[in-house]
Amino acid sequence: MLIDGHGRTVNYLRISLTERCNFRCQYCMPEKPFSWVPKENLLSFEELFLFVKVGIDEGITKIRLTGGEPLLREGLDGFIKMIHDYKPDIDLALTTNAFLLSSVAQKLKDAGLKRLNISLDSLKPDVVAKIAGKDVLAPVLKGIDKALEVGLGVKINMVPLKGINDNEIVDVMEYCMERKIKIRFIEYMENRHANESLRGMHGREILEKVKEKYTIHALGREGASPSFNYSIEENGYEFGLIDPHKHDFCENCNRIRLTAEGHLIPCLYFDEAMSIAKSVKEGDIEGASQVLAQVLRDKPKENRWTEDDPSKEKEISSRAFYETGG
Ligand code: SAM
Ligand code: SF4
Repeated sequence: MLIDGHGRTVNYLRISLTERCNFRCQYCMPEKPFSWVPKENLLSFEELFLFVKVGIDEGITKIRLTGGEPLLREGLDGFIKMIHDYKPDIDLALTTNAFLLSSVAQKLKDAGLKRLNISLDSLKPDVVAKIAGKDVLAPVLKGIDKALEVGLGVKINMVPLKGINDNEIVDVMEYCMERKIKIRFIEYMENRHANESLRGMHGREILEKVKEKYTIHALGREGASPSFNYSIEENGYEFGLIDPHKHDFCENCNRIRLTAEGHLIPCLYFDEAMSIAKSVKEGDIEGASQVLAQVLRDKPKENRWTEDDPSKEKEISSRAFYETGG
């Protein structure tokens, strides 16, 4: 079992397979970074798999593949199969913008993928184009339909932004209701890479929008999930709110993150990381395991998106979400 320096059990590994993306979301990567990580610096699937095995052997039970856009990485189904064959009961999930999903959903399912989180911020083509930087709604919706058709578990992520998609909170939720899939509203997390003019919505403002139409009941957090769940009285539908600005958000944090270059990151907010690249390139299992142990010891108690001390100037994280995988 993996325990961090604050006594929390860590069983969830998120792997960013590439920082590259075919979208330019305003809250993540409004412009292409000055330079991409050179392709030769990316860990190969074999190298990533060596670390995955170390993690699984030591207590990881859930793996999420993310990015950037993970569907841009060639041979993804082969990597999914490697992990699945090593531990078939692993909870293996992927987060994607779904642009390329419709043609690969079946292949990913056959390889062993169980679940998908898909980003959907609006149902209006022009609003999606404004947020994502290009006109992508139709292929995204096609991707969602295909994922459901092939039997993959689907959850939708929506980041509500003031003056952009805040009037669509109920509409996107009802789209999910009709398809019996869960939506999680994610509070916009301020970071230095995002478009400066963006204003996110606080969790309570998001809930107010839902309450204009429905009566809601708080259900609470589901284990170590970052999502605080609510149910709708009128029809029993359940949705989630990911609220990293709330002070108890980090109490049960169970995750670590690995970037495509091999940086092992203990917390989404902070820049601190240690590299496993040398170890996995040399096939050094013991070395990779030692880095993992050190990163767990160093895992911070909490992020700094909390707003407990209003006298403090608001901190802005310099972490790039497209690099760490959100
Ligand atoms: N490209 C994939 C996608 O968009 O789903 C996977 C990577 S993306 C970085 C993972 C998640 O992070 C997405 O649901 C996205 O909405 C979310 N995200 C990115 N930047 C964010 C920010 N500044 N605040 C809150 N969520 C953010
Ligand atoms: Fe790409 Fe996902 Fe970031 Fe949007 S949120 S720019 S789709 S990585």
